[in-house]
Amino acid sequence: MPFDNTGHRSDQEQKHIVSSENADAGSEHDEPVWDVVVVGAGPAGASAAYAAAVAGRQVLLVEKAELPRYKTCGGGIIGPSRDALPPGFELPLRDRVHAVTFSLNGKLARTRRSKRMLFGLLNRPEFDASLVEHAQKAGAVLRTGVTVSRVEQHGPAVPDRRTVAVVLADGETVLARAVVGADGSASRIGAHVGVKLDQVDLGLEAEIPVPPPVAEDWAGRVLIDWGPLPGSYGWVFPKGDTLTVGVISARGEGAATKRYLEDFIARLGLAGFEPSVSSGHLTRCRSDDSPLSRGRVLVCGDAAGLLEPWTREGISFALRSGRLAGEWAVRISEAHDAVDARRQALNYAFAIKAGLGVEMGVGRRMLAIFERRPGLLHAAITGLRPAWNAFADIARGSTSLAGLVRNHPLARRALDVLDRRQAAPVVSEESVPEPAAASEAGAKE
Ligand SMILES: Cc1cc2nc3c(=O)[nH]c(=O)nc-3n(C[C@H](O)[C@H](O)[C@H](O)COP(=O)(O)OP(=O)(O)OC[C@H]3O[C@@H](n4cnc5c(N)ncnc54)[C@H](O)[C@@H]3O)c2cc1C
Repeated sequence: MPFDNTGHRSDQEQKHIVSSENADAGSEHDEPVWDVVVVGAGPAGASAAYAAAVAGRQVLLVEKAELPRYKTCGGGIIGPSRDALPPGFELPLRDRVHAVTFSLNGKLARTRRSKRMLFGLLNRPEFDASLVEHAQKAGAVLRTGVTVSRVEQHGPAVPDRRTVAVVLADGETVLARAVVGADGSASRIGAHVGVKLDQVDLGLEAEIPVPPPVAEDWAGRVLIDWGPLPGSYGWVFPKGDTLTVGVISARGEGAATKRYLEDFIARLGLAGFEPSVSSGHLTRCRSDDSPLSRGRVLVCGDAAGLLEPWTREGISFALRSGRLAGEWAVRISEAHDAVDARRQALNYAFAIKAGLGVEMGVGRRMLAIFERRPGLLHAAITGLRPAWNAFADIARGSTSLAGLVRNHPLARRALDVLDRRQAAPVVSEESVPEPAAASEAGAKE
């Protein structure tokens, strides 16, 4: 094999990365190609690389950062994420959530508790690096500190019609039979595919180290605050000696979003602690008709705009779409011609739309209601046991928002009614009735 275990060709002067096992002797350039090149080593990319490598293919995973790398993220990991992990993967959980305090812009705080774990909390650098190690163990080759500039499917860098040229920032070209774009929300591969977005949000976060008494107060409990800006919310996710405190809101309200985070931190009595990291990141949701492929290139995770529109939960979307992209990239890599490649790419798009696409559709409806009537959702989730149970089931992964609406006529009717109501004039939040069943201590399941 012409690579060392970092994927670097032993002859550093060589500008083309090749895999001898897959040599395509007939090509004009006479250069072998990787079966699958994956761009970006977050959960989507690591998942795709794992799926293609475990199928026995030659896989190169290219990441612009050095690992482990920081990623602005709450690190909340819900049931569907656990189900999408490689076999034997142990989640590096920093905390297990058994209680949720909900508040409405700092008011009407109520805590709901559950004997069974609701969801887990992890540090992204640790989690992502561990996923990449799994992909490597399955046979994927990793190159870090390497930025992909673009992909080309035609032109002088492309030896034949079954090959894609992946052009790196230093001009080096990597050849592949199929490419998976998993390069996050500012995706270059997404731009190549023509991903269309209909929702862009700005998330701001602070990692706040806290002394033991404060950490103990938060252990096993998260806070979710429905925010002052339409569609916004804030969270406190405890991870041992550090609290991840963040807010998210529609892009275009940068100053107000920053103020929300500052007020939120101050209100919680955490303003006196110096954050170890303060950062911001955009999240993007695809429009319903957005493409998921172009030629031999697929996109997944944030690069494809696959994200739950209401909660902006993206790890499970990244893991699930990454795995599908890896599996279908294998088939595209074996496609003899453009028609065959197209057929496989359409199968990938169909699988995404039938699963994550449906979930996104329900999430959009939930967001539309939440934007107009956060008080109504707050009242329901803190005051109505079925609403809380639904939240708990979704967090644990025993159902999804879409599954709930599909299988429970009552949930479907409630969403229809709320859909209709959200088109009606808004009442002031003060007129939202106090939920009778809720108590400050919270009802246990
Ligand atoms: C503030 C905030 C909080 C969030 N909290 C949660 C949460 O609690 N739970 C949850 O499920 N989701 C959360 N999300 C969403 C979640 O972080 C993302 O959906 C998830 O990281 C998507 O994974 P990904 O693999 O698609 O992309 P990423 O994790 O962004 O990975 C993309 C990778 O590609 C690399 N890359 C980028 N460009 C290139 C290039 N040109 N060449 C090579 N490599 C490249 C990047 O360095 C990166 O490592 C949050 C998002 C934000 C903004």
